[in-house]
Amino acid sequence: MIDKPKDESYAMAEQVLRRLRASGRRALFAGGCVRDLLMGCAPKDYDVATDATPEQVEDLFERTIQVGRRFGVTVVIQGGEAVEVATFRTESDYSDGRHPDAVDFCGPEQDALRRDFTINAMFWDPIEDRVLDYAGGLEDLKGSVLRAVGDAETRFREDHIRLIRAVRFAARLHFEIEEKTRRAIRRLAHLVMDVSAERLREELRIILTDDDPAAALRLMDELDMLGRIFPELEDARGCEQPENYHPEGDVFVHTILTVEKLGPRPDFELAMAALLHDVGKPQASRRAGRYYFPDHERIGAEMARAICRRLRLSNQETMRIRWLVKRHMYFKDAQKMRGRTLKRLFAEPGFEQLAELHRADALASWGNLTDYEYVMAHYRDMPPEQIEPERLINGSDLIEMGYRPGPLIGKALRKVRDAQLDGEITGRDEALRLAAELADRLSPDGAAEKRAGHDDTTKEG
Ligand code: ATP
Ligand code: MG
Repeated sequence: MIDKPKDESYAMAEQVLRRLRASGRRALFAGGCVRDLLMGCAPKDYDVATDATPEQVEDLFERTIQVGRRFGVTVVIQGGEAVEVATFRTESDYSDGRHPDAVDFCGPEQDALRRDFTINAMFWDPIEDRVLDYAGGLEDLKGSVLRAVGDAETRFREDHIRLIRAVRFAARLHFEIEEKTRRAIRRLAHLVMDVSAERLREELRIILTDDDPAAALRLMDELDMLGRIFPELEDARGCEQPENYHPEGDVFVHTILTVEKLGPRPDFELAMAALLHDVGKPQASRRAGRYYFPDHERIGAEMARAICRRLRLSNQETMRIRWLVKRHMYFKDAQKMRGRTLKRLFAEPGFEQLAELHRADALASWGNLTDYEYVMAHYRDMPPEQIEPERLINGSDLIEMGYRPGPLIGKALRKVRDAQLDGEITGRDEALRLAAELADRLSPDGAAEKRAGHDDTTKEG
């Protein structure tokens, strides 16, 4: 019932499985890969489930990494591919809502029953081409239904991450969440806050970079989880905006629509920035009045930073998201910008993300892409060496000319750089002349900045 994939990654996984079989053990493909194969799409990776213990797995293969001996999971490296081999297990007594207190090795049926959703609980024997379906996954797959294995409420209470995993699978596969499962999720939605920040972040990363992150966010909202993970977004609901710029509705509606307009599979930073770009608006308008949002990008940038910290994003991701939120209004002044301002913008490592954010933001509101087109036309036409040309002079040139190291030199250099980026000067001599002129002019007591006794001919009298 399943056509064997032809790729290398499958071939290596099958080798691992056959090797286990040859040693007299049971071995089956398990979980997500079986679901994906039955749906006719390429699995991300192949997981093998077996009755061999981790020690036996380790003995059987040359290169293995123990990733969770307690859970019986071993990674086997085979032909450059990593195949996860897990011993059939049951888990019991999740007293903390995160980790099972006890793990026992068992057979495939019990292993299926500890899995989260029926469609994720199937095994496939590739040698006999037989699917082992102990939880009703085949039927749910046919009906496009996401259903918890066993009693939904119990299963979500055991491990709270399953609440958000439900959103991941329902959104990705366009499945309906079965009624009891859905009711249990809504009832227990508050428990999503007990999930560790790291696990939650990783689920959000998967969801927000998937094909339709906006649909996932709307589902998360329906299931009463979005406002728990991002309480700051709750204020955006009902935060009114002027209709001429925002025919789509309030800040909340606009926010989700902005994520939608990013298109499929945005990068994580961009998706987070889109989700948070207007998070400062409610506060700004509380200060300034209805329809006024002065400084909302700065307020929002600080809020975004706090949110990213709470979710334990990396510093790099946090800084980028904060920058994107802070700069998200920047393109609206682009047509008035000087050459150097545009070049500095192009040189920013997050420029392309900012452009995408601006585009989505515009498409999610009044739809005017004039500023976007203007900036991108300049960006496309500008050779990289013009965006960040080599500096014509540096600090030691000025020190050699007799200027004291200090802030003055920095200021002069910055102005020389401006002139270079604006195309006013192109050569080193011009740059040196301009720097000397500026240094003298900027210095509070003119030539006094120079070291005594050091003569210099470029100085004005
Ligand atoms: P993806 O294609 O996104 O990787 P997947 O189904 O393979 O989806 P994984 O997170 O890789 O999902 O987990 C592999 C399998 O382990 C799942 O299919 C499911 O059977 C089981 N599983 C994972 N996490 C849980 C959990 N928290 N509770 C119960 N079973 C789980
Ligand atoms: Mg997987």
